[in-house]
Amino acid sequence: MAVETSVTQTSRHGTDPLVLGRRIRHARTSANLTLRQLADAVGSTTSQLSLVENGRREPRLSLLTAIAEVLGTTAAQLLSVEPPPDRRAQLEIALERAQRGPLFASLGVPPVRPGRRLPLDALESLVALHGELERRARASIATPEEARRINTELRLEMQERNNYVPEIEEIAEEFVRSVGYTGGALTHRMVSQMAERLGFTIIHVDDLPHSTRTVTDLENGRIYLPPASIPGGYGLRSLALQAMAHRIFGHESPKNYGDFLRQRQELAYFTACCLVPRFAAVTFLERQKAAKDLAMEDFRDAFGVTHHSAAQRFTNLATSLLGIPVHFIRANSDGALYRGYENDGVPLPTDATGAIEGQLLCRKWAARAAFTRRDRTTEFFQYTDTPAGTYWCSTQTGATTDAEFSITLGVPFAHAKWFRGRETTRRARSTCPDESCCRRPSPDLIARWRDKSWPSAKMHAHVLSPLPSGTFPGVDDTEVYEFLQAHAPDES
Ligand SMILES: [Zn+2]
Repeated sequence: MAVETSVTQTSRHGTDPLVLGRRIRHARTSANLTLRQLADAVGSTTSQLSLVENGRREPRLSLLTAIAEVLGTTAAQLLSVEPPPDRRAQLEIALERAQRGPLFASLGVPPVRPGRRLPLDALESLVALHGELERRARASIATPEEARRINTELRLEMQERNNYVPEIEEIAEEFVRSVGYTGGALTHRMVSQMAERLGFTIIHVDDLPHSTRTVTDLENGRIYLPPASIPGGYGLRSLALQAMAHRIFGHESPKNYGDFLRQRQELAYFTACCLVPRFAAVTFLERQKAAKDLAMEDFRDAFGVTHHSAAQRFTNLATSLLGIPVHFIRANSDGALYRGYENDGVPLPTDATGAIEGQLLCRKWAARAAFTRRDRTTEFFQYTDTPAGTYWCSTQTGATTDAEFSITLGVPFAHAKWFRGRETTRRARSTCPDESCCRRPSPDLIARWRDKSWPSAKMHAHVLSPLPSGTFPGVDDTEVYEFLQAHAPDES
């Protein structure tokens, strides 16, 4: 069938609300009823029913049953997962769905209403164009499609469980308690003792193979670690813990890339649980929350971990144990998202496959705005209005030996009240993924510079990131034109 889309949306009834709505409209027009007549018959309003028919609202089962009865059908028939019977309905649904997707939104092109007056052949053509657009967007992704797909799958799985895995939390809790941990930072001494309990000795060497972070000698019970922390990379405690976790979870050599990523994720989760054990973390965070003084910098300092680890760890515990939905973003100073997580609905940028890594973040968001600040020693706070609502974010910038990055922890407006920094007056408005928000240079700048500039792109090292696309591959047009404008001898 020609009408196929990648995003299948299901609802509380298990059927795509758009399909359900179209089926109701089809049944209503076949029964020669106006919206008003149907609304009167079922005791609803025309605006309510119009939302239902457009797939914008899901009817309660009682309303659905009433509608079905008036239209001479059954709720079960309306909810059927079979595609709608007539070609036109199929095409209308496909067009609406394509027009609601991130790919279309990024174009900034006005949508077409797939109403009765749109000729069938125009509808066929539009749907085919959307299909081809999507195919090309997928084909242009320069990195292994498979890796991105699996990565996205894993992220969505974790989102489903609020980034919280109690089974691993318990194993880690028991383990740190066995070496006398009661709270605060886990010491290097405790980590060595944990290794001993597993029958390992930790040995620091300066000649580890270049392609490895640690090597474990299973026969002789030795974990080889580098002599010092890798700047901007993994601390020694986490390296040792990851090596141990490998034994605790009994991982075998991964069978495929998905297996490999899953193992990595399990090890990382376990390590985070050891460095910031649940019982100690929750005691700490609940106290801060009660005082309306939650702050990632305090959480970080209390457990002696990096800002990245603290904010990421917060996402594990925040929703299930503190009742706070959250998002986490690590961004590079070039604006590309490096790692992200959300269960608060913040509209992270995605490519056609749903992957977020390597996508350019909105320039108005705190994750990028924080780079513009001169004093970066403390956290940067900002409220941001987005098409999905208002969020409060706290961002800390930092640098590795070769790059600057920012770590952002954000929550929906209603939850800002628990955090230090909520009183900030800084507020920004973002309409991304609509490209006119911040992606597309202003018409003046385009006219002035498009044919008179030649930027040379940096190579991007991140294995998962595609190149940001603009007039020049790998280059952010807006930044280039604004740079030129600011430096031009005759205009600045
Ligand atoms: Zn934007």
